Amino acid sequence: MKVIVNGKIIQKDCILENKVLVFDKKIIDICDKAPKNCEVIDAKEMYVSPGLIDIHIHGSKGSDTMDGSLEAINIISNSMIENGVTSYLPTTMAMDKECVHKAFEIIKKAMSNHSQGATVLGVHMEGPFINEYYKGAQNSEFIIKPSFEFIKDYTDIIKIISYAPEVDKGFEFTKDIKKNTDIILSICHTNSTYENAKAAIELGASNITHLFNAMSPLNHRDPGVVGAALMTDVYCEMIADKIHTNKDIFQFVLNNKGKEKIILVTDSMRAGCMEDGEYELGGQVVYVKENSARLKNGTLAGSVLTLNKAVYNFFESTNLKIHEAIALASINPAKSINIENKKGSLDIGKDADISLFDKKMNCYLTIVEGKEVFNKII
Ligand SMILES: [Zn+2]
Repeated sequence: MKVIVNGKIIQKDCILENKVLVFDKKIIDICDKAPKNCEVIDAKEMYVSPGLIDIHIHGSKGSDTMDGSLEAINIISNSMIENGVTSYLPTTMAMDKECVHKAFEIIKKAMSNHSQGATVLGVHMEGPFINEYYKGAQNSEFIIKPSFEFIKDYTDIIKIISYAPEVDKGFEFTKDIKKNTDIILSICHTNSTYENAKAAIELGASNITHLFNAMSPLNHRDPGVVGAALMTDVYCEMIADKIHTNKDIFQFVLNNKGKEKIILVTDSMRAGCMEDGEYELGGQVVYVKENSARLKNGTLAGSVLTLNKAVYNFFESTNLKIHEAIALASINPAKSINIENKKGSLDIGKDADISLFDKKMNCYLTIVEGKEVFNKII
């Protein structure tokens, strides 16, 4: 049994001071005094936070989910813990079927044999069922019509499918997914009308992938996907790097969606946590410079954001308190993929996924399912 003392314990609706957090593999107790014979960790007045959860990340530290190797997944898992992320969904891109399926197989292996870094929760499949008009940095060569056949052998590991509902004729795919699987449908890379997006949401699409980016915008006569996102109760991913979205838009979305329905993601590509330079994403060259990743034509191609930085950016730019901003990257993503009974908050009985952050959300210690995996406390 271990105990964290001298920290500010982040809860969903408050911050607890002068309490201790007791855990082994799970959270055992939050109480006034450390039980005897425990290993004691001094939090040095930092935030004791639930481990962050990134439901949309392609890569980091030079590796990408589409590399199709366990080594690449392990590199990503080990890089995220330095930013306080304790679990995530490796995210695939539009590529040929063999490459996408190979990535699925590797993710399956990483899930069944968790040995290092952050926990792999499953797959976020972004594309290939998207609209070429809003392809963003996805490679148009590999865009195809939604097909249940394509995913049918992997319904146990796919957690999210990001797709364009308007290319799903008669919503056949949408209905098949909702009827036969627990997979979350997330709307993205889409030129859907407001009406079409609302129809998909009524049929069960429950998330919006990187709100505002790669989708029909809000117009007062033609509200588009952004309108449908803001006027229904879907979860909305946001890439809070202040590049994909102006920072003043954070409060605007908060006012419209409320703090329960925003999920911070990184959408980081392999150049995350690396130096500026030339990288690859989905078979295309990406130029990374001054915190942005772009194709040659200037199109944004994922990000180099980290999730702790996203939380801080959002906190700094809105009226949220720090524990409320942390919730956007912990309990909200957990709820959106139905794992809130196990992860996303420091509640008794949940997995001991814990991160220590200073006031600027720099990470000093990361614990995954009770195991210390990163420590730079001096
Ligand atoms: Zn992405």
